[in-house]
Amino acid sequence: MTRAATKKNKPHTGGCICGAIRFEAKGPAGKPHTCSCKLCQKHSGALTVAWVEFPSDAVAWTGPGGAPATYRSSDYSSRAFCGTCGSTLGAIDDAPVVALMLGCFDKTNAADLIPVSHSYRGGRPKWWHVECVRPAGE
Ligand SMILES: [Zn+2]
Ligand SMILES: [Zn+2]
Repeated sequence: MTRAATKKNKPHTGGCICGAIRFEAKGPAGKPHTCSCKLCQKHSGALTVAWVEFPSDAVAWTGPGGAPATYRSSDYSSRAFCGTCGSTLGAIDDAPVVALMLGCFDKTNAADLIPVSHSYRGGRPKWWHVECVRPAGE
């Protein structure tokens, strides 16, 4: 087995800043993209966030707080956050899909996490430039 294949089989892990919410997500991650829509901006406080998606059954909530708190933000999705520290985690869709923001991942270098598109690019300020560079060989 190659080193790359071994890395692919390892689940992605991450969580909030207080540690109550932890997750293990079995890859590969789907739809890696950045988003600058107003909803993402207000939910995160950031101008642009990076997202990946997993089927709901590929994500396990492994921290002492269990599943994150949610806020119904649209007719198909709820925003997810830690009810203790308030950290933004992502969104739990009805689909059933769990979308997670890369900022709460423990490690973010894996190839399946690199954004391939930018949603609502026009929602960012003109002075804010977002560029994702795929490392050579990935
Ligand atoms: Zn927390
Ligand atoms: Zn968005």
